[in-house]
Amino acid sequence: MNEILLMMMMLSLQITMQPAGNYHPIPGEYVVPSAPPSYEEATICHQPGPPPFNPGMEAKPMSPYPPYPAGTYIQPVPMQPPVTVQTVYVQQPVTFHDRPVQLCCPRCSNLTTTHLAHTSGALAWLSCGGLCLLGCGFGCCLIPFCVDSCKDVDHYCSNCQALLGSYKRI
Ligand SMILES: [Zn+2]
Repeated sequence: MNEILLMMMMLSLQITMQPAGNYHPIPGEYVVPSAPPSYEEATICHQPGPPPFNPGMEAKPMSPYPPYPAGTYIQPVPMQPPVTVQTVYVQQPVTFHDRPVQLCCPRCSNLTTTHLAHTSGALAWLSCGGLCLLGCGFGCCLIPFCVDSCKDVDHYCSNCQALLGSYKRI
């Protein structure tokens, strides 16, 4: 009986010693610490942990290169394969007539216009023989050798004088 009285007295003494409006902590509830955290608690315990994993958000791909230091920016140069330009000149087959033609000389590799040289060919000789058979004497049978339209045509390069082709009338 005396113990119960003693406990009731101590309880009433505790209640009267606590100031009015004091917060009574309930078990299971978060207790707000009355004193501010010490310097070690504030500096050690506030290191950020790994960010929570969000399954809905796509993970940011990690760059294989280390980040550049602040203040320097290097323009990334895309690697391009070296372009090699190879020019191939294809010599078109040139058909020679009795007029100058413009072509690339295979000997001196210059673009040139051929100059013409007329030579007595088969047409001139056949014309001469035909005129002789028709009775054209006194040198008239030699007229085909003086007419360019009866002669063959040789084409020469204007730069190196190389024979580039011939035009045969027959
Ligand atoms: Zn030439």
